[in-house]
Amino acid sequence: MKIVDIQSTIVEGNFDWIVVKVYTDQGVHGLGEIYAGTSGGRMLDLLRPFIMGEDPLDVDRLYWKMYSAFQRELGASLLAAISGVETALWDIAGKEMGVPVYRLLGGKYRDSVRVYADCAAGEGDEGKKEEEVRLGPVVLKGVHTPEAYAAKAVKVKAQGFDAIKFDLDLPDRYKQDRYNGSIGNEEMNLKVKLVESVREAVGGNVDVAVDCHWQYNVKDAIRLAKKLEPYDLLWFEDPIHSENVDAMAKVSRASPIPVCTGEHRVSRHGFRDLIEKQAADILSPDVQKAGGILETKKIADHADQYYIPLAPHNIASPVGTMAAAQACATFPNFLVLEYHSNDIPWWNSLVKSSGGPLVKGGRITLPSTPGLGIELDPEAVEKHLKKGAKLLA
Ligand SMILES: [Mg+2]
Repeated sequence: MKIVDIQSTIVEGNFDWIVVKVYTDQGVHGLGEIYAGTSGGRMLDLLRPFIMGEDPLDVDRLYWKMYSAFQRELGASLLAAISGVETALWDIAGKEMGVPVYRLLGGKYRDSVRVYADCAAGEGDEGKKEEEVRLGPVVLKGVHTPEAYAAKAVKVKAQGFDAIKFDLDLPDRYKQDRYNGSIGNEEMNLKVKLVESVREAVGGNVDVAVDCHWQYNVKDAIRLAKKLEPYDLLWFEDPIHSENVDAMAKVSRASPIPVCTGEHRVSRHGFRDLIEKQAADILSPDVQKAGGILETKKIADHADQYYIPLAPHNIASPVGTMAAAQACATFPNFLVLEYHSNDIPWWNSLVKSSGGPLVKGGRITLPSTPGLGIELDPEAVEKHLKKGAKLLA
């Protein structure tokens, strides 16, 4: 079997989902996804010469070939492109062997993967919707009142999720200074009230995490963590910037709630310091960015030697989400996988799978069908294709 072509397309959801398809001379094809919002789709042209004509079943060797070709200049976009291709190779390998991808990775620890609903901000009904607010790469929508957060939490719990996450980084108008990472007392009190209202709304049995999107300095991140201690949070995500591992370790040591980080890091080398310095309590690599399915498993196995669980970041379409679920099934130290599209009613319709909607009652059941266990629904994809993108053959 030989690889004869690679193509990609873009589906417009709450992010631009870049779906990759790898074609072989035997008629078998594989699907993968490149991390949204990167120029990873354009990077496929750089990767093409390194895998055309190759045997797609040598997945790890082809990962090494693509990775080592660009090792010295490897940017996040290029590794995102490699991640998408790698996933498609696993899909091909599973189809060729007649087994699900998790079987090829050593089998599964669980029959279904728990997902948490990323809620961002509060429920924006009753005419209270705020204007769109951009915070770095993050676009916040919805209202930022304790009542709105509680309403959203109640709605998502009723859908069957037993793990939810809210953003605690608020729009600029709540900040005294947008550059110095400080949290003024008024802003601090609002954050505490937001968390308190969510905890009261869902009761004690739902896991609640909060995300800070790298907004704070070390001292204010620690102040905030201590004020949030009474609410029994699942984790406190990215309180400070992620480049300085020692600073992250300082926050983690002082924080009474578990610190989670990792969505900005790529490849097993990008996680080594974080793991060996035990700088975080939970790691959140993104399968579509960190290097694909097997690279994320290698990160998980390294973390497992330090008894650190993984809660992978995921903002993908059903293709990337199923790739992440296949990987998560194989980690002993898997905690919960992100699901970022709970507010997109047509998200599940983008793919056909044997078991109906992918996400049901806060879980993804692993399919027993070969490969990733999903195929694109061309009609649904066409409805949401980004302007200028082509439907995949
Ligand atoms: Mg995050």
